[in-house]
Amino acid sequence: VEVVRTDFKFSEEEELFRKALIEFCERYIAPVWVELDEKGGGIPPELYKRCAEQGITSIIYPEEYGGMGGTFTMACIAGEVLGYYDPSIAIPVGTVVVTNGWTAILTFYGTEEAKSEILPKVAEGTGFFGIATTEPQGGSDIPGIKTRAVRKDGKWVINGEKAYISGVKEVLDLSWGGGWFLLAYTKPELLHRGQTAFAFLAKKDGEVVPGFEHTLYEDWGRCGLSCGGFTLTDAEIEDKYMIGKEGHGFYHTMEGFNLARIILSATTIGSARWALDQAKEWITTRKLFGRPISKFQNISYRFAELYAKLEAARLAVYRAAWVADQIYVEKKPGWKRTDLNVPASIAKMMGPETCHEVYEQVLKWYGAYGYTRECPVFRGHHGTWSYIIGAEGAQDVQRYIIAREVIGREYVRWE
Ligand SMILES: Cc1cc2nc3c(=O)[nH]c(=O)nc-3n(C[C@H](O)[C@H](O)[C@H](O)COP(=O)(O)OP(=O)(O)OC[C@H]3O[C@@H](n4cnc5c(N)ncnc54)[C@H](O)[C@@H]3O)c2cc1C
Repeated sequence: VEVVRTDFKFSEEEELFRKALIEFCERYIAPVWVELDEKGGGIPPELYKRCAEQGITSIIYPEEYGGMGGTFTMACIAGEVLGYYDPSIAIPVGTVVVTNGWTAILTFYGTEEAKSEILPKVAEGTGFFGIATTEPQGGSDIPGIKTRAVRKDGKWVINGEKAYISGVKEVLDLSWGGGWFLLAYTKPELLHRGQTAFAFLAKKDGEVVPGFEHTLYEDWGRCGLSCGGFTLTDAEIEDKYMIGKEGHGFYHTMEGFNLARIILSATTIGSARWALDQAKEWITTRKLFGRPISKFQNISYRFAELYAKLEAARLAVYRAAWVADQIYVEKKPGWKRTDLNVPASIAKMMGPETCHEVYEQVLKWYGAYGYTRECPVFRGHHGTWSYIIGAEGAQDVQRYIIAREVIGREYVRWE
């Protein structure tokens, strides 16, 4: 479907949602984000619960599971607002991005039993639900995963190792628990067509499941959200936790990445907007040679350039969210799920990369002060950098997807 223009204005409902979130963030997020980033150790359960009570962990799924029955546009609004108030994007990723992206896939393809068990817990803020595909040998190579699920005595027995997974400490700290959309091979001989997705709960009803052992990493950015790894040794999963059909896991993973990438990109837009607002204040008050440095045109013109690039990236993000809404929320005839591949990858390319360009420049405008820990701007730079590194899919993988879809698979794929 050709998309040239969407409605450029938020609806009244979206605008009310945005304003309520701004008030919420000014009260609960702005005062704590620096301390959380400094201290590390994950999102405190009380704060996660507060965010959930505000509705932001459960925007997409229907009210019958405790959700808001909202749209991907609303999820992006939440991502952008939270990204502005926690520019390290730890809280927005932990409460808006992974939760909404991957509960959406559970909502679309999970069993009734799994949805009724997990979704209300995420909505009330006692449970977390994220994504676990990456393994130590490489995150981009999804067909290269080694985790295996084998059928035994009416259950699935899983062995494997997942690495660089967001939310490990949150799952363990929250009172009910939670887990991840987990990808494993059920028929390795079929390559990616032999991969199956499960809702793997590492902890539920307050108990950690047998066979789960975790480790936590010491990241240098986005420290307010934990990142860890885990091994599964003969961990058992019941049939009801299979997401979609056996052998469809790879495709659901790609769909989930499309959705999470859009919401993530919205958080980087929010973070970069915060950085530009900080910069505006700085360049208009910092005086050199008897005038504010904004009078130097290398500074004000570059500001204008970054502002324009950010607006373009922002439009790309909301355009992708709008496409996601046509496909998954409105279920408009004529749209295919794969229609989201290019818009989502454009959003993921432009959001984090424009954000990176903004921070790189803004930090230079701050001079030596920007290089001190007292100036919080570096925290936004460090936190959003994780999405240049590759969280929610490496940047060049986005280029690959766009090239493959636009130039043609036969000219781009190397298999
Ligand atoms: C803070 C953080 C949080 C994360 N949270 C999660 C999580 O919750 N769940 C989860 O499953 N994973 C998570 N990840 C892992 C993330 O998904 C991976 O980092 C990502 O998929 C890239 O994998 P990799 O890091 O192993 O890099 P690799 O896949 O080893 O890539 C290395 C380099 O090769 C390039 N490359 C790879 N393939 C191609 C290609 N086909 N074409 C061109 N270039 C290519 C990449 O661009 C990259 O520069 C997280 C990562 C970080 C940093």
